[in-house]
Amino acid sequence: MPTINLSGAQKNYGVNSANAVSNLDLEIRDGEFMCLLGPSGCGKTTTLRMIAGLENLSDGEIRIGERVVDSVRAGVFIPPEKREMGLVFQSYALWPHLTIERNTDFGLRLRKLPKEEREMRVEKVMQALDIAKYRDRYPSQLSGGQQQRVALARMLAVNPGVLLLDEPLSNLDARLRLEMRAELKRIHKEFKTTIVFVTHDQWEAMTLATTIAVMNEGTLQQMGTPNDIYDRPANRFVAEFVGSPPINILNFGSAAASELSRAAEAYLGTRHPSLRGIGSIGIRPEAIGYSVKTNDVPAGSFSGEMTVTGVLPTGGSWILELRNGSDTLFLTTNALPRVETGTRVSFFAPPEALHVFNKDGQRIAE
Ligand code: ATP
Repeated sequence: MPTINLSGAQKNYGVNSANAVSNLDLEIRDGEFMCLLGPSGCGKTTTLRMIAGLENLSDGEIRIGERVVDSVRAGVFIPPEKREMGLVFQSYALWPHLTIERNTDFGLRLRKLPKEEREMRVEKVMQALDIAKYRDRYPSQLSGGQQQRVALARMLAVNPGVLLLDEPLSNLDARLRLEMRAELKRIHKEFKTTIVFVTHDQWEAMTLATTIAVMNEGTLQQMGTPNDIYDRPANRFVAEFVGSPPINILNFGSAAASELSRAAEAYLGTRHPSLRGIGSIGIRPEAIGYSVKTNDVPAGSFSGEMTVTGVLPTGGSWILELRNGSDTLFLTTNALPRVETGTRVSFFAPPEALHVFNKDGQRIAE
């Protein structure tokens, strides 16, 4: 499948409304598992629908390989059925009056493929998705997760070069969701399909994607591997959207800056004088260590003393809430905490754990 290219893609739904998607440049390469990630209303579904051809662009261009499929300026718009893409939306609408086998076969019949080929393909995807045993049942006789598998099988049977999935796991309970994620990863490997997957769930994106595109208010914030997004967030929005519990942010430079912020600013200033007072820093909770003894702090780290005000078990790991005056810091630990509320502790973080942002919230390369 050729690369899908969006350049300067824009969508405005009405005369007086803000852009649902603004000036979006996105490249989706063959075999990629691309997750569009962002909060509700950020333009993920609109982006997917523009790729599918269910919405036309207000400006910009979409190309599939060398072929322009949508361009306002060139006056080109190729309809969805000529784009060779499979779509599965949140509501996966199976035909209630057709058996699972007939549902799976549906797209192949539409394409008028010979019977033997249809049978072969239906069998292959039903086996792959473990739904062959339900072949004679009707959708109403299957659970939500099983129906979702049938919807995926129906898409895969027609062997689309690209699968477009809009929150396809949103109706499932936690366990099924996990199973289906593993299933999707397997499908991606086995069928080598390019997948574009919309989700607002950061864990889903982190576990599934080869590339994540983080969006906010219609604009692309960052595109990169899950590790890039997590370890080198391009700005504060990405840093704060990805990660749970969320990243600790310390703002510099205002008269109201807290003691901890001032300490962080001074620490940064001694290491990088040019960055003093420049914006804010973020420290992920798992990057922070703590010790009951003050002489246990690793040399060169950013450190201080605070009081434990909360010990929150999360099943196998713990969140500690530390406070000092108006300052609060959260850290996570996998070792059973030998502290209780009221214990005075030292916290510390290595210099590389400090994400530095300028006044506009953009990452500063250290
Ligand atoms: P969600 O996760 O809630 O589905 P999303 O990130 O997929 O959100 P979109 O559905 O793409 O976001 O919506 C982006 C913006 O465009 C929102 O402000 C939404 O209200 C607006 N919008 C979406 N569809 C239409 C439409 N058909 N007409 C007018 N405005 C729309």
